Amino acid sequence: MKKQFKTESKRLMDLMINSIYTNKEIFLREIISNASDAIDKLHYKSLTDKSVKINKEDLCINVSIDKTGRRLTISDNGIGMSKEELESNLGTIAKSGSFDFKNDNARKENIDIIGQFGVGFYSAFMVASNVRVVSRAYGSDDAYEWESEGIDGYSINETDKDTYGTDVILTIREDSEEEYSKYLEEYEIRRLIKKYSDYITYPIKMNVTKSRLKDGSKDEYEEYNEEEIINSLVPIWKRNKKDITDEEYDTFYSDKFFDYEKPLRHIHTAAEGTISYNSLIYIPSHASFDYYSKEYEKGLQLYSNGVLIMEKCADLVPDYFSFVKGVVDSPDLTLNISRETLQQNRVLKTIASAIEKKIKKELTDMRDNNEEDYLKFYKDFGMQLKIGVYSNYGMNKDKIQDLLMFYSSTKEKLVSLSDYCSRNKDYKDIYYACGETTSKIDMLPQVESLKSKDKEILYCTEYVDEFVFKTLMKFDDKEFKNVCSDAIENDTEESKELDKLNKKSKDMFNVIKDEIGVSEVKFTNKLSSHHAVCLSNKGDVSIEMEKVMKEMPIDNGVEAEKVLEINESHPIADKLKDLYKNDKDELKEYAKILYAQARLIEGLPIDNPTEISNLICDLMAK
Ligand code: ADP
Repeated sequence: MKKQFKTESKRLMDLMINSIYTNKEIFLREIISNASDAIDKLHYKSLTDKSVKINKEDLCINVSIDKTGRRLTISDNGIGMSKEELESNLGTIAKSGSFDFKNDNARKENIDIIGQFGVGFYSAFMVASNVRVVSRAYGSDDAYEWESEGIDGYSINETDKDTYGTDVILTIREDSEEEYSKYLEEYEIRRLIKKYSDYITYPIKMNVTKSRLKDGSKDEYEEYNEEEIINSLVPIWKRNKKDITDEEYDTFYSDKFFDYEKPLRHIHTAAEGTISYNSLIYIPSHASFDYYSKEYEKGLQLYSNGVLIMEKCADLVPDYFSFVKGVVDSPDLTLNISRETLQQNRVLKTIASAIEKKIKKELTDMRDNNEEDYLKFYKDFGMQLKIGVYSNYGMNKDKIQDLLMFYSSTKEKLVSLSDYCSRNKDYKDIYYACGETTSKIDMLPQVESLKSKDKEILYCTEYVDEFVFKTLMKFDDKEFKNVCSDAIENDTEESKELDKLNKKSKDMFNVIKDEIGVSEVKFTNKLSSHHAVCLSNKGDVSIEMEKVMKEMPIDNGVEAEKVLEINESHPIADKLKDLYKNDKDELKEYAKILYAQARLIEGLPIDNPTEISNLICDLMAK
């Protein structure tokens, strides 16, 4: 009886069969990789389940070609599939979530999806007119055959099979405009195995035809068959660095970690000593779509002597480097290690700390020698580094601070803290300013004034930035100073004068302070002449932090202690002094307007916009 495929499967298959996707040859990689997975599963099972007895040496994948019957068969002695598994695994699309065909994407996009993720089992239909899967699950005596010619559906019937495992039997299509017969040629299949499946850890065997001189003859040849292992078996991370091309590294990366973009760097290590291990770590060029979500799981693949023991071993990488992908293989780890004991494991800890140092070194090198790559990296992962600085109470800040970058007002690009400090040796502090965008920060009165004195300021446009500075506290013995807070160094002579003026105006400031409800009001000389007011803060909570806190789901009422600063050289200063003497009511109204302006400049909302608007209009009409 013929059964129908699920809708999504049908559509994928339609795409396969009428494939406009040119890279049809990947079908073999997909089938071999499934076979390898199936063997992995059985092997893994044998390690944890004593009733499963297999001989490790026997595990292999067989590829055979029957030219006259146009058949290509890929067999494995892996875990196999029961009738139900055949039904659910092959009757429906890969559950891996690689595809979302629900919305009718343009075909072109679909092709990109194929390119990015590989398509699994159904890719067989790109080259085969008939696909049979004969399988017997390990531990069962029954075998079943799944068969399909494509879209029309599939059937499952009982059959015979001597051994456990799976045979995938493809009937290769007849040649049309496209040549399919090449998939029945030994050399082509060999090429494909080498190209795509060389690092498969089980032998991929093929019966190959060879020729030799006939016995006793000098010029007559005869053909004979010999089984050959086609793949090099040794996984890439165990091979010698100098024998591996960049392309091989990149291909391995994209196959293993499903990333269609090349990684920025790879770090290949072979360590021998008290603890031996091989590791191959990649720094991706971009963040995966789920990177900054809860769903993202960090970790490296963990192998013991070529056998996978954990898909994602989180303990191997610190959170702040959670973006790396890779594998670690150590013969010093036992196979039946559990997740709990893993955390305490001395071997693992040693490897993890070595890996962390390597990643740091690689990133530092990239920062110093390849700015373009580093900026690309930093664009996606800079946030992770910043979070790493202030999480765990700043425990790891010393390890990460060198990797941070911030936008510089004078260089107009991202610079590192050490760059900033080496350029500005004469500064007592590191100046920074916060705001939503660099252009908004540019317009802050305090910033403008410092810029006019050619001071370099770091711009914080991300909400974490200021927390980072608060956590770092110092860099190169310089403190971080928010130019909008009040403690910026000032010309001493002038500041004495200013102090005097402020003392003298104390009573007036008290009137203003009570009216608008800020912590302090004072005159300032740090603004350019055309700016009348600015808002700064006292204490630990800056205005930018107050904004961030207000955005949090739970508003815990944290507010900056605000200081209204009035430009002592602006005409408004004299006007205020005048009003204080002659008209205190009007002074209060001016105070309200000035405070509202200062808040707006800082990007803070005003509580009473109608009142402020009316006050301004009254003033205009005067
Ligand atoms: P994916 O490999 O991405 O999960 P596939 O479409 O390639 O998707 O395969 C679907 C499922 O069929 C696999 O997840 C696996 O459970 C099963 N399968 C495929 N080939 C084999 C095989 N040779 N042995 C055992 N199970 C297999």
